[in-house]
Parts: sequence; structure tokens; C-alpha cells
Amino acid sequence: MQPQSIKKVNQNEVEITWNAEHKSIFTLKQLRDLCPCAGCQGENILFQHVPPGRENVGEEGYVIKAINQVGSYAVQIVWGDGHDAGIYTWEYLNSKCFCERCYQKNEN
Ligand SMILES: [Zn+2]
Ligand SMILES: [Zn+2]
Repeated sequence: MQPQSIKKVNQNEVEITWNAEHKSIFTLKQLRDLCPCAGCQGENILFQHVPPGRENVGEEGYVIKAINQVGSYAVQIVWGDGHDAGIYTWEYLNSKCFCERCYQKNEN
């Protein structure tokens, strides 16, 4: 599942085009809050969930500095505050899509 393109469409949104019929739009805030790294999402250590420590994301933490392709399966997003530990796989991004079609699919 590799998108045709991923690009910033304006100051606040990233658009991922999966194919002619399917696009995902994420706001930068959504993307940062979805950051899959252990620091943001918490970690499972010895079967215990360690909660994340993400309380201090400042304004620049919601600005994208760079989007780097990782192999053919993911992108790494570098944020304005230097945070770059999140590797967003296409599968992950696709599963978090907020478009109407996916939203309905996830409801059922
Ligand atoms: Zn993170
Ligand atoms: Zn969708």
C-alpha cells in the first residue's frame, strides 16, 4: 500500500493521495498527535504500559520541517522542535485516515 504522493497542501494540512478514489487529509496537529514513536504513544515494557510524556509540545512542534521517505513502506516526519523519532508507515497512516469513507468503514 504505497501512496501516489504525500505533500503539504497548505500551512496546516498534509494530503496523501493513495489512488484516484482515495485521499487522506491530515492536519499537522493530527499528525503530531499520531506520532507513533514510543515517546509519544507510550511503551509496553514487560507487559506494562508506560504512558507517554507528550505534555510539552510547543507551537513549533506542530510545524513540519521535513518529510523523509523511509524505504518504500513509511515516512519519517521531522518536526520544528527537532522531534524526528516517528516513523509513520503507510499502513498506519491509512488506518488513521479521517475521510468520510474510512470513517464510516471504521464505524461498522
Ligand atoms: Zn514521537
Ligand atoms: Zn480515507
